[in-house]
Amino acid sequence: MKVFKFGGASTATAAGVKNVVSLLKQSKESDLVVVISAMGKITNALEEVVLAWFAKNGLKEALEKVSNFHYEMAANLFQSKTHAAYVEVDNIIKELLRFLEINVSENHAFVYDQVVSYGEILASKIVSRYFDEVGLSNTWLDVCTCIKTDDNYRDAKVNWKLTQKNIKNKVSPKGITVTQGFIGSDAVNNFTTTLGREGSDYTAAIFAHCLDAEDVTIWKDVPGFLNADPRYFKQTQLLHKISYKEAVELAFYGASVVHPKTLQPLQQKKIPLYIKSFLDFDSPGTCVGGNISITPKITCYILKPGVTLISLSSHDFGFIMEDYIADVFKWLYEYKMKVELIQNSAISFSVCVSDKFNNLHHLLEKLRSKFYVKWNEDVTLYTLRHFEEKDVKRITEGKRVLLKQVTQETVQLIIQDKPEMLK
Ligand code: ASP
Ligand code: MG
Repeated sequence: MKVFKFGGASTATAAGVKNVVSLLKQSKESDLVVVISAMGKITNALEEVVLAWFAKNGLKEALEKVSNFHYEMAANLFQSKTHAAYVEVDNIIKELLRFLEINVSENHAFVYDQVVSYGEILASKIVSRYFDEVGLSNTWLDVCTCIKTDDNYRDAKVNWKLTQKNIKNKVSPKGITVTQGFIGSDAVNNFTTTLGREGSDYTAAIFAHCLDAEDVTIWKDVPGFLNADPRYFKQTQLLHKISYKEAVELAFYGASVVHPKTLQPLQQKKIPLYIKSFLDFDSPGTCVGGNISITPKITCYILKPGVTLISLSSHDFGFIMEDYIADVFKWLYEYKMKVELIQNSAISFSVCVSDKFNNLHHLLEKLRSKFYVKWNEDVTLYTLRHFEEKDVKRITEGKRVLLKQVTQETVQLIIQDKPEMLK
């Protein structure tokens, strides 16, 4: 069996959902797990719902945006409002409204996961019912009965033992199973959890790992893994083949084509990963596997805008000792900072972070109790792999470089200027 994952871009419109059907029919795959994430930009719209609920302001409008989108989608796919699928969508939306009405928890991350997960539930329900409609017989699976996690809401960690057992028990290796990406449930109370933004790729890898799938395909709106982000580079090239290691490095540094957690479960079982375009299903895309050297061998450019560079130096021109560094790491962990890069010298320590959970100012306050602290917010981290000196020049020309770190295969640059389109 195989695993296919369709992200929000592939199901953003009714025509998109129909395209997914054409793709499946053309693929002729009959034994599949189809992982669906929220349609279009619905996860962002649901984040707005959470904000409005906490702010006690604008909730009605925020909810309408979400519900109207799905009613319209259902109306386009199923014609009549009395169609069973339309009624089901209506019931799921009512369930969300009910949760927001009765919930008393003030735990932001908990509420976030309960609400945002509706994007995946609605999307997978609509897609599964539409498959039925066009004769693609399938089973809708509630992924929360399979993927068990801890209760670290918004970034939950998978309990592999339970998850493996559940998936083996609940997923038939035959036929088409349609399920949700990104979400799971905590092993103790069964409350919904999420695996981190863009986590549906990871879900596909979890299913593939547990079912020993033949391969995984992530269907995207780009032709595959490109050597540079088309939002910032005019010219990009498709990478035909890369190793798991290369892919995990590129994804970790910020290549958004695949979630970085996706690679490990696949690498462990040597399951190939394909990244292909849902707009051009016959193109080979990118193949990620073991022991492959990058083909073609070209420079890869990855940009991560919106990061913060923090520089610490000691109060008394003394050395930054290991016990001080231990505190820094403790606080980075406590405030859930994603550490992108570290560099130190005798009397200074620089760390570049992504502030995923809006904790920067608490962290800075802690750091100031022990160090002189300087920081630059909203700067860009550039990572170049397999680079030549001329590539570095191309990126840094006329730019203010705050930090540079070079290893054999990789150079990383933190640049203050806002990124702009490069030719
Ligand atoms: N819908 C979720 C998100 O937008 C998960 C995903 O797309 O993978 O973050
Ligand atoms: Mg998405």
